[in-house]
Amino acid sequence: MSFFTKKIGIDLGTATVLVFLPGRGIVINEPSVVAISTIDKRVLAVGDDAKEMVGRTPDTIIASKPMKDGVIADYKITEAMLRYFIDKALGSFRLLKPEVMIAVPAGITSTERRAVIDAAMAAGAKSAYIVKEPIAAAIGANIPIGSASGHMIVDIGGGTSEVAVISLGGIVANACVKVAGNKFDQAITEYIRKKYNLAIGEQTAEQVKIAIGAAKPLAKKLVTQIRGRDMITGLPKNIEIGSDDITEAIQNELKGIVEAIKSVLAITPPELAADVMDKGIVMSGGSSLLRDFDKLITETIGVYCYIAEDPQLCVAKGTGVALDNLDSYKRSILGQK
Ligand code: ADP
Ligand code: MG
Repeated sequence: MSFFTKKIGIDLGTATVLVFLPGRGIVINEPSVVAISTIDKRVLAVGDDAKEMVGRTPDTIIASKPMKDGVIADYKITEAMLRYFIDKALGSFRLLKPEVMIAVPAGITSTERRAVIDAAMAAGAKSAYIVKEPIAAAIGANIPIGSASGHMIVDIGGGTSEVAVISLGGIVANACVKVAGNKFDQAITEYIRKKYNLAIGEQTAEQVKIAIGAAKPLAKKLVTQIRGRDMITGLPKNIEIGSDDITEAIQNELKGIVEAIKSVLAITPPELAADVMDKGIVMSGGSSLLRDFDKLITETIGVYCYIAEDPQLCVAKGTGVALDNLDSYKRSILGQK
């Protein structure tokens, strides 16, 4: 049957939109950016094409990140973005309308939930379902979420870090903080400005973070060159910075995420917390790839922490798996139509 019904799973991330088709895997992986004309508010480009325009366009075009901070900042733009990605994944001259599963932050209100479903229906879905991100991440990380046992998943993306304990297909305890990869980049930018009098852009900060960043001082230090603008002379300048610089720059942000994990453990029923101690904490999301982040959590929380396979793809995979097994995940899926 699944051959005739089109199914499509979407991870509407703050940094990246991923589209998963059951049986085919990830077919779209693009930045969640939309380019809009300030004159008539028209959507000019979405995803890769829109990111290309950022910084290279006249003032009449702005780049909007509709999923800023993990909530839908703009309904119309979200709808346009969904339509674009659904059409791109399936082709716009298709016979069948797709069934769509979208992962949303666990803390999203019922109004926002409704808005996502409406946006998906308006974008051409036959039916639209919503699954909470931590549930999708856990399914994508191959965690048996339906079992009567506690599992902790920590998804650290661009805009938010979501911590959840899941048992019997539901979220038992959770927290969401607006501290993740983007905040790391901002903290790095600020640190380099203060310590080296060098102004760098957030894209540069992100590149440095990925190239040499670490959550703890590394035994084997890494170094790299970065280029910015000397704040005293106003001229371009290259400097060398090390992995310890990055670790120091993002201390507060790391602490914020560790505190969120502690706060969730503190409100988890003791039996389920004991399960988490046994099985460990699973990390997903792009920022889980920061060097030694898993070690930092293991050491500060005292519970073994490990990174899921393909951490950046977990949520998207989870949406696809959930859609392909609607019956078994019925309890975890919201707002059906
Ligand atoms: P979202 O779900 O919010 O769209 P993602 O899970 O795609 O976010 O993660 C995006 C974040 O992951 C970005 O902040 C990016 O800088 C960060 N990131 C990606 N790869 C790495 C890496 N190797 N090391 C550290 N951070 C990374
Ligand atoms: Mg995400």
